[in-house]
Amino acid sequence: MGPSVAEGGPISKFQVPTQPSNDRYWEDPDSWDLIIIGAGISGCALAHSQAKGKKRILVLERDLSQPDRFVGEFLQPAGILKLQELGLLHCVEDIDAQKVKGLCYHFPEKNAYLPYPVHGRCLHHGRFVQRLRTAAAAHKSVTLRQAVVTALLNSEGKALDAEDAVGGVLYRTTDGVQRRAMASLTVLCDGMHSNLRAKLGRPDVMCTSPTAAVTVIGCDLGKNRDYVQLYIGEPLLIVYPISSTEVRVMIGMPGTVKPMATNGEMRQYLAQTVAPRFHESLREGFLLALETGTVRRLATKRLPAGPWQRPGAVIIGDSLNMRHPAGGTGMSVALNDVKLLTEMLEEDMDFVDREKSVRSRAAFVSRRKALASTLNMLSNLVYDMFVVKESNDRGHLLVALQGYLMWSEAYRRSLALVSAGLDERPYMILIHAAGIFAAGAWHLFLSHPSLRGLGLVLRMLREEGPTLWQLIMAEGGPLAMIP
Ligand SMILES: Cc1cc2nc3c(=O)[nH]c(=O)nc-3n(C[C@H](O)[C@H](O)[C@H](O)COP(=O)(O)OP(=O)(O)OC[C@H]3O[C@@H](n4cnc5c(N)ncnc54)[C@H](O)[C@@H]3O)c2cc1C
Repeated sequence: MGPSVAEGGPISKFQVPTQPSNDRYWEDPDSWDLIIIGAGISGCALAHSQAKGKKRILVLERDLSQPDRFVGEFLQPAGILKLQELGLLHCVEDIDAQKVKGLCYHFPEKNAYLPYPVHGRCLHHGRFVQRLRTAAAAHKSVTLRQAVVTALLNSEGKALDAEDAVGGVLYRTTDGVQRRAMASLTVLCDGMHSNLRAKLGRPDVMCTSPTAAVTVIGCDLGKNRDYVQLYIGEPLLIVYPISSTEVRVMIGMPGTVKPMATNGEMRQYLAQTVAPRFHESLREGFLLALETGTVRRLATKRLPAGPWQRPGAVIIGDSLNMRHPAGGTGMSVALNDVKLLTEMLEEDMDFVDREKSVRSRAAFVSRRKALASTLNMLSNLVYDMFVVKESNDRGHLLVALQGYLMWSEAYRRSLALVSAGLDERPYMILIHAAGIFAAGAWHLFLSHPSLRGLGLVLRMLREEGPTLWQLIMAEGGPLAMIP
């Protein structure tokens, strides 16, 4: 059992060739129709969708080699449908992506299966991004260039002042030269670490506890192979195949684990807290991977969406909005942003004119809310309610979740639709949360049929109610729950 391809193992037949940087600067127009910053999920999909007609599009990407990240490996059915609508479904083919039939929640006695009506995919993020880059660069109108964007510029090509519209970018190419590109519209697709979003007045990034990832090779997931498996609790575990031979174990750390714990401490923590929760085959593979492979870590971030300032620019994907990765939903939200922006540009919504762009920006944020808020709340709720509050006893909540999911197949099917991004009604999160509380209350009454039972129910509501309320407020308050 050796390291995975992403960890420097043998070259796989599914490796996707790296797109060369188009450095024919002499062919550049004086002004581009569109500049896209970042060739990740949203940037590539947007370049592809905008490449029709006579548009000249410049896509600037910091690093065109295959990304080696453990983010974005589970594409929900909603993301698959958006890919299809954008004409990019072929990008999940020939990369050894694995079909996903639904979610499996693990509980001590019995598992709960949430079936998806449309398959999702689990995949190698880097291969998927390379396929998207290939699709974008195949258009004559798209110039894909390796370069780091260092600043946004005004329409005169100078540094932005407080009130300026965005008119272009300053970028540094691999030869170390600073270059300038001007465009009527610039779209920020520069992801979670964006250092440009602050220029558009979007600085409220919140860092949460880290996520760790381990690659288990050659392990048999048995009948759960076609499901993304969630082990709710502390830490939160998500298990899924990223290829026909590799299984990803994603670990959502509770706040008590220090992000800077040494590798030795981290391995020990994972061996003690994670391995015992797995069945034999996965446990053995996981322990071996801890010994021989790499434990990778990443701080997770949250960013509520909101309108940005300045005409001449649009901001989408993680640069605009982030949530905890527990739901595996960020790519679906990013692809939905691309689809929506494409529609709005086709409707001639104006993001350039000073007056009209105010309305267009607000309309964009409002129209993306149905899907984005639903998935943001779901992802954050899973983590906040079941993992983050290390001081509380969450045993009763786990029992409540199990009770709720076992009550009725209708609940499981409904929660599956929400998780898949196929039910875009944010208030459904509140309905499911209410169902979990009701199951919790029922369980508490059964085990303590007295005033003590009532006291415990009230305590549960007092402790968990504020968590739910904070999530609602982060999405814009109670009115935002009704799309
Ligand atoms: C631990 C973790 C696990 C996750 N797991 C999932 C999952 O299973 N499913 C899911 O749907 N989502 C998941 N996500 C979220 C998902 O990865 C993101 O939502 C998605 O990648 C966002 O796409 P994007 O286009 O906005 O950004 P990205 O895909 O990150 O692309 C940004 C691009 O911009 C480039 N860039 C940045 N700055 C510059 C610059 N100044 N100049 C030039 N280029 C620049 C970067 O190099 C990068 O290529 C996860 C996130 C984390 C943190």
